[in-house]
Amino acid sequence: MASIRHGITLRFCVTLFAIASMCAAPACAQDATGVQRLYVLNCGESETKDLSAWSPGFNEGKAFEFSDSCYLIRHAKGWLLWESGVSDAIAAMPDGLTVGNGMLTLHVRKTLRSQLHELGVAPSDIAYLGFSHFHGDHVGNANLFTSAKLYIQKAEYDAAFGPDAAKSGFNPAFYNKLKDNPVVVLEGDHDIFGDGSVTIYSTPGHTAGHQSLLVRLPKTGPVLLSGDAVHFQENWENRRVPARNFNKEQSLASMQKLADILEREHAALWINHDKAQTNTLPHAPQFLE
Ligand SMILES: [Zn+2]
Repeated sequence: MASIRHGITLRFCVTLFAIASMCAAPACAQDATGVQRLYVLNCGESETKDLSAWSPGFNEGKAFEFSDSCYLIRHAKGWLLWESGVSDAIAAMPDGLTVGNGMLTLHVRKTLRSQLHELGVAPSDIAYLGFSHFHGDHVGNANLFTSAKLYIQKAEYDAAFGPDAAKSGFNPAFYNKLKDNPVVVLEGDHDIFGDGSVTIYSTPGHTAGHQSLLVRLPKTGPVLLSGDAVHFQENWENRRVPARNFNKEQSLASMQKLADILEREHAALWINHDKAQTNTLPHAPQFLE
């Protein structure tokens, strides 16, 4: 018996050793590639009484509802969160929060923190973090993610963390805890994991350092998360630029850049605030592979 047990123990140890040496961290994590799944999270909703603020000269007096999505991406190297939506604090406000001199009313039906919790993901599990830009409906819960590596364009970094953040329409109270995060400051496009699976594209115009994200899903195919480079389908089709954008020419050039990426990559365009489209996407706990 003793020898058999010894044999089993030895085999077990050999197997363990083999696994350990195969996966000797950090080599295992470094070699891991590819996106495994993507969750769409409901990170708020909003409504306006006058859509023309987003499409000058069109849709005057037209009421409209926007979605607000976050995207939780499981890569072989860890969790990436793209966007953090409007602040979870708004969930406690029964009538929502009206901002911009009555231009927009924001609602949170379900907090980001609770959606992550349901998936078994703690804020400290988020290893990689990015936002299309630093407006409050995208960085509303940024301060939850203080252990993540932040990916941000230099122009956005300078505006958000500089002395005149409010001039860019940014509120540092939403994201000031990120100032000590590890940060990758970008001036252009960037392949986050070095395996082509998740690529940041610089798409300025809505803000000085707006960026978009191409995610290559193994079964679904590539999807392009365009943030606020465009707000809804009609604006995309007609290349309309909201009056409040940082720079109109940059906005138009970025829309063309996105169109070129879509064509080259045969990717699907996911417009963050287009509620009609967002409603067609599976939401967490469902996911796309
Ligand atoms: Zn937005």
